[in-house]
Amino acid sequence: MIRLETNLPAFFNELCEVIRLFLGAVEIRPEGDGDVIVHEHSEENGLWIERFAASGREIRHTAPAVRGGLEEKRQLKRAAKTGCFLLMRELTGVSPPWGSLTGIRPTRLMYELRERGVEGEAARRAMEETFYVSPDKARLLSDILEMQKGLVDTPENEYDLYIGIPFCTTRCAYCSFASGELGKGALVEPYLAALKREMALDAALMDELGLAVRAAYMGGGTPTALTARQLDGLLREANRLFPGAREWTVEAGRPDTIDRDKLQVLLDNGVERISVNPQTFSDETLRIIGRAHTAQQTVEAYELARQMGFHHINMDLIAALPGENEADFLRSLARTVELAPESVTVHTLAIKRSSRLHEQGYLQADAGAAARMVDGARRALAAAGYAPYYLYRQKYMAGNLENVGYARPGYACLYNIDNMEETTRILAEGAGAITKWLFPRERRIERAPNLRNIEQYIQRVQEMAARKRTLILSQEA
Ligand code: SF4
Repeated sequence: MIRLETNLPAFFNELCEVIRLFLGAVEIRPEGDGDVIVHEHSEENGLWIERFAASGREIRHTAPAVRGGLEEKRQLKRAAKTGCFLLMRELTGVSPPWGSLTGIRPTRLMYELRERGVEGEAARRAMEETFYVSPDKARLLSDILEMQKGLVDTPENEYDLYIGIPFCTTRCAYCSFASGELGKGALVEPYLAALKREMALDAALMDELGLAVRAAYMGGGTPTALTARQLDGLLREANRLFPGAREWTVEAGRPDTIDRDKLQVLLDNGVERISVNPQTFSDETLRIIGRAHTAQQTVEAYELARQMGFHHINMDLIAALPGENEADFLRSLARTVELAPESVTVHTLAIKRSSRLHEQGYLQADAGAAARMVDGARRALAAAGYAPYYLYRQKYMAGNLENVGYARPGYACLYNIDNMEETTRILAEGAGAITKWLFPRERRIERAPNLRNIEQYIQRVQEMAARKRTLILSQEA
């Protein structure tokens, strides 16, 4: 246990996040027994001074004081976090790859720098000097911005559509999503009926506002856990209500849920991008993580989709899975490259509190090994012609690393970029789906999360659509 004393209690949680970058999921409280970290904020001659002390060491970090509303709060938080980071680095001798960054998308900071005219080498240096990001990760960010050129500037009258199917055939051991196992499937039909009601109400609102759909994405869960008939009904309704998507993705994540009929339904309804996710090509690991399929089934599903004419297939892999070492992971990566999907997403295992791995007390892989896996993936994918195009980080990831989407030229997924960079409104349908409404003039995002519980979602769908309507009309009208 750690006791953290700070005279900026409003930032207690953010300081805890920095400490956990170094110490993992340690318990931190403002009082009680345990090792003590003391933070004292003060101001002198226009400078903020952040003093951090623990175990006989002391750090003093200064930053120019900023005045005025939100920017003052933002900069003060940044100064306090940086001081805390410097103390922890000194105490542990560890330099996390993403430096002091927690809870913010690193690409967002690069875009902010660009708006101030700081680009290329200067932007990378700013990330290294201000946030202690490693040169390698700063380079990764530059490469991503390069890939996003021309894709992030969304016309003002467009939005993306997300449809969530919260059902899976079994639950993966690392899953933290609002996904119910299918069981006897009793909830599926009522769920689809509620979903279509929500979609109809939202489509009417989009028409009223004269907004057009840009990219559509069906995720979950596993959309292909539905039957071919259910999938067809849903996609037809989506296309009728939200016509004209420039990109249509359906996550066909579990290879054991894919068959010829379902793939034909996707093609008939204009879906041109699907995700067939190996996660690993080791059958033993697949068993441990609770995926009810084999590596061979992944290959067969992929080849069937290819034969039937899908021209954009994505594959997801996870680094640092239980029991896997660097060589195991790189073997899966090599097998993926051999299959030649148009895009590959490399996740780093995150052990969320609501996952089975967490309940089972599984310990995260060694940070160095995880880092070698994702670095190896980046090198191998670059050699095979893939470039990174989006990135995000989550809590509890092995080695505090990242998830990165790679694509061959021309195959970056618009929806993934829009969702991560928050440059487009996201209209989200279904249990647990989160509408993120961008108000471009104020550069502000408001979220409207739907209920995660499937039964409650079904009962209260009208209420959620009404809440979304109120939020959206509060500014758009
Ligand atoms: S496929 Fe995805 S949503 Fe379904 S159980 Fe696995 S991690 Fe969760």
